[in-house]
Amino acid sequence: MAKSKKPTLEFDTDWTYDPAPESTDHVTINERYKLFINGRFVAPKSRTYFDTINPATGKKLAEVAAAGEADVNAAVRAARKAADTIWSKMPARERGKYIYRIARLLQERAREFAVIETLDGGKPIRESRDIDIPLAANHFFYYAGWADKLAYAFPGKNPSPIGVVGQIIPWNFPLLMAAWKIAPALATGNTVVLKPAETTPLTALKLAELIQEADLPPGVVNIITGAGATGAALVQHPDVDKVAFTGSTSVGKMIQQSIAGTRKKYTLELGGKAANIIFEDATIDQAVEGIINGIFFNQGHVCCAGSRLFVQESVYPQVIRRLKDRMETLIVGDPMDKNTDIGAINSKEQLDTIKKYLRIGQKEGADMYQTSCSLPRKGYWCRPTLFLNASQSHRIVQEEIFGPVLAVQTFRTPEEGIAKANNTPYGLSGGVWTDKGSKIFKITSQIRAGVIWANTYNKFDPSSPFGGYKESGVGREGGLHGLAPYLNLG
Ligand code: NAP
Ligand code: MG
Repeated sequence: MAKSKKPTLEFDTDWTYDPAPESTDHVTINERYKLFINGRFVAPKSRTYFDTINPATGKKLAEVAAAGEADVNAAVRAARKAADTIWSKMPARERGKYIYRIARLLQERAREFAVIETLDGGKPIRESRDIDIPLAANHFFYYAGWADKLAYAFPGKNPSPIGVVGQIIPWNFPLLMAAWKIAPALATGNTVVLKPAETTPLTALKLAELIQEADLPPGVVNIITGAGATGAALVQHPDVDKVAFTGSTSVGKMIQQSIAGTRKKYTLELGGKAANIIFEDATIDQAVEGIINGIFFNQGHVCCAGSRLFVQESVYPQVIRRLKDRMETLIVGDPMDKNTDIGAINSKEQLDTIKKYLRIGQKEGADMYQTSCSLPRKGYWCRPTLFLNASQSHRIVQEEIFGPVLAVQTFRTPEEGIAKANNTPYGLSGGVWTDKGSKIFKITSQIRAGVIWANTYNKFDPSSPFGGYKESGVGREGGLHGLAPYLNLG
């Protein structure tokens, strides 16, 4: 509740919200998690476990199995058997029922998943509650509906499953990325071995419990935890028919090289360096709100984060003033507090990366501006940051930082804005802010990126495809497009 010390008619920042922490009473986190293989939780043959921590406190949450090569083999074997004997043979309508069941269970247990997501990854509870978990459930609902309609989706193409899919996901949207991967794979009759990221394994393991509860036949979904080496072993396993990867462009390139020359199919959803372009005819307040959402949402741990801002010169002073004012009101802190806008940075490694770029940006000559908020003493945190007077050649403009850091530049004409926005190795997403519909069409058709939002940002829906141009990836996820990479099409 807001407490106003001294009510005035003018904008008054001299007040704070009372804490509004989400309760953890309804959540159980085991001390130790095994691997989910062939429908059961089994101890790793590697006999190794690692800790997953809460990045907001630095405290250990649980111990998680590190799958070694023998464990990867066991998971792929289970997936192969399930693919050959059960899942691909089951009537598609029946497959759909299982996927609907997962979606409904996820909805029923949404609060539990939201809390665990926030504890393990550091994102604000408001986001995991309102965005991550509902979108993950929607994804299962959406693809459940496609399971028995594949022949209509691809008329005359005789769609059939590919077989065993190895899936590897990052830490920024752990459950949502698991849903993006598992739902279309199951709907198309494939079986899955999924590896979540080392720092955020807990919601995938909760999903494994839920999959057990949904009575999915053993081996259809296997979830194995571990670090990069586990992912590499999965990618290179000879009995994996397709690799679906979401993560950094550097690891994506390594994966592409390691499977070159094999018969394996692959989709890669990689990094981004999205541009938001504000024209002088935009509704400035609305645009500023969108820019803020675009870069500070989820601490900037978003592949499609609007990390570059291009402002038309005539409105530059006004935009920057409002941007700074709005940034100053952002609440950074306890991710479990429902008032929090910006939570914890996911790991010490990621915070070190962000800090490295803050130093680089200053050294390169851009002007750094950070808000004045105080940060908690424990855990990993970064103030919302602007770099003004950045230039095209700066590394903070060219490279993905994956943190709450926005590099700002100006432009005069639409052509200049487009040229600057396209000057990046990435092409995942972008945003355009203008009052003119014709300008929206002109700009969006010339920006080389997979998704472009107009007068809004970071809007997702299971029915719309997502994916990158250039070094942002290969293939699409979501929508009808997201089914095709999981099918043999005649
Ligand atoms: P990352 O380091 O590439 O890791 C992604 C996943 O790959 C993790 O599970 C990781 O395991 C695993 N991995 C690491 N090395 C591997 C190897 N040699 N072979 C196979 N798997 C390996 O990326 P991240 O830092 O977790 O995630 C951030 C990146 O993901 C950003 O670049 C972001 O843009 C991108 N992203 C893209 C999308 C999209 O849809 N395009 C969506 C979300 C994120 P460990 O975590 O255990 O090391
Ligand atoms: Mg963690």
